[in-house]
Amino acid sequence: MKISWRIVLLWTLPALVIGFFLWQGAFASNPAEMGGNTASTRMTYGRFLEYLDAGRVTSVDLYEGGRTAIVQAVDPQLDNRVQNLRVDLPTKAPELIEKLRKANVRLESHPIRNDGALWGLLGNLIFPVLLIGALFLLFRRSSNIPGGPGQAMNFGKSRARFQMEAKTGVKFDDVAGIEEAKEELQEVVTFLKQPERFTAVGARIPKGVLLVGPPGTGKTLLAKAIAGEAGVPFFSISGSEFVEMFVGVGASRVRDLFKKAKENAPCLIFIDEIDAVGRQRGAGIGGGNDEREQTLNQLLTEMDGFEGNTGIIIIAATNRPDVLDAALLRPGRFDRQVIVDAPDLKGRIGVLEVHARNKKLAPEVSIEAIARRTPGFTGADLANLLNEAAILTARRRKEAITMHEIDDAVDRVIAGMEGTPLVDSKTKRLIAYHEVGHAIVGTLVKDHDPVQKVTLIPRGQARGLTWFVPDEEQGLVTRSQLIARIAGALGGRAAEEEIFGHDEVTTGAGGDLQQVAEMARQMVTRYGMSDLGPLSLEGQGGEVFLGGGLMNRAEYSEEIATRIDAQIREIAERGHQLARKIIRENREVIDRLVDLLIEKETIDGEEFRQIVAEYTEVPEKDQFVPQL
Ligand code: ADP
Ligand code: ZN
Repeated sequence: MKISWRIVLLWTLPALVIGFFLWQGAFASNPAEMGGNTASTRMTYGRFLEYLDAGRVTSVDLYEGGRTAIVQAVDPQLDNRVQNLRVDLPTKAPELIEKLRKANVRLESHPIRNDGALWGLLGNLIFPVLLIGALFLLFRRSSNIPGGPGQAMNFGKSRARFQMEAKTGVKFDDVAGIEEAKEELQEVVTFLKQPERFTAVGARIPKGVLLVGPPGTGKTLLAKAIAGEAGVPFFSISGSEFVEMFVGVGASRVRDLFKKAKENAPCLIFIDEIDAVGRQRGAGIGGGNDEREQTLNQLLTEMDGFEGNTGIIIIAATNRPDVLDAALLRPGRFDRQVIVDAPDLKGRIGVLEVHARNKKLAPEVSIEAIARRTPGFTGADLANLLNEAAILTARRRKEAITMHEIDDAVDRVIAGMEGTPLVDSKTKRLIAYHEVGHAIVGTLVKDHDPVQKVTLIPRGQARGLTWFVPDEEQGLVTRSQLIARIAGALGGRAAEEEIFGHDEVTTGAGGDLQQVAEMARQMVTRYGMSDLGPLSLEGQGGEVFLGGGLMNRAEYSEEIATRIDAQIREIAERGHQLARKIIRENREVIDRLVDLLIEKETIDGEEFRQIVAEYTEVPEKDQFVPQL
């Protein structure tokens, strides 16, 4: 859709513009025609004055308010033959009229003929109006298309596209959980505040720093904190805003941005999503993107164009440093890279403390317990979590945020909005067996993470959920943990099969099966955990449009591909058999847990384990399970 509109626009513009010029030529007014005289020969103003002095001029007709004259002159050498000559008069020559009068020349001034002028005016206007009208229609129609290039209308507004904050007001204290990055960037503050300290000893101050990390980890915040600590203005723009459909707009935006920054030095420029402009040039399959390349070239030129001690530091953020053009990473450009990753447990505690500052937490709320429940959360997720909890607290008319609100907010951030529970029915029973199936396998397999809770309250896409507490302290995941997870993920389907029979299984396990396939594939192709041996058979999955992805695909033979598939199937089948065995052997407790779950809607991990322990031995796990 997008592409077809672009083509329409690009073809329509030249066509209309050519039409405009052709028509303008045809309608243009000509003074010689207006006066009915045909004056083919032109004469310079100087020659005209000579003729006048020589007494050869007999009459002058002024046209166009005195800007053009048709001069009748005689040539004494040719029997006083009369010539009509056209002269362009200077606009300011009042003495000329005086002179003509003295020379007794017949002088006539012709008014601008209205009809002719009107036609001329219409002729001049008609095509611009048509052009604008056509473009307007095009833009209006195209902006109705979702995702269509409606933003093309903005191409003239290049100046307004970056933001400037004179004072960000953010300090290093407001950024938590990314201590290494903070330390690295502490120095940049000094570059901005006291460049002399470095230039005095001949050190070259770096111009660019690249922050690498997933979205929401605080890269923007960190850049703002640097500007805030140094007390300099903060300019920001997103890489995607450089890339426009009109070639040259991005480049002019870059120029504008640097111009403004130079006027405000010392200052900090922040470019978010630099990969949108900074991808390797010429890597696109089926032709590159001229606009992007021009913009990138302009950026490189600007970066090379100022000295290190100008007091401008550029900080760029990306999630994909691997796709960046090598030229961007050269010395004198973004030669420093700082990794900003999702925080670990300690980091999450720090971020939660920052965001809890302005919130009222009940005394029993443990920041550590929240941090333990939220592995993989970024700083932005945690900020969002506390905000959701505060909103819930207000809605429930409580004085302070309690662990209940926090817990609901975590569920909401991870799994989506809560739905209404089903009434007791066969479907509800089946979902209950499915969830208890996950939970019991997770509880009885030694290497599986412990159950945190099982619930039948739907959330987002899921109609029931079993939550586990992953053990992140360890960092590495063993083969037996992966197999345990595969078995746990298949516990739901296994329970459906054992209890309701082969024909009654549902589509509810779709998501589980996807996860299983992914885990099993990675065990075989990335971690060398299969009979194929310790081979890495897959690079980091690159994107197809980088060209590289296509090549990687065929790194192994057809034969290996067949064996990979067989290994994946074997791993999945092993997990499946383990899960079915556990369900078969624990039918009694499963039935009891399902009844309880249907009655209570939610069972927490501790209670679940206690009930299972009445029937069989539950293996100890060393993870901390936060109490709700
Ligand atoms: P990014 O630029 O990496 O996508 P942002 O800096 O825009 O992430 O983060 C969005 C918001 O999340 C911030 O304004 C802040 O409230 C919160 N946040 C993210 N990371 C942190 C952090 N490390 N410490 C404190 N707050 C954070
Ligand atoms: Zn499931």
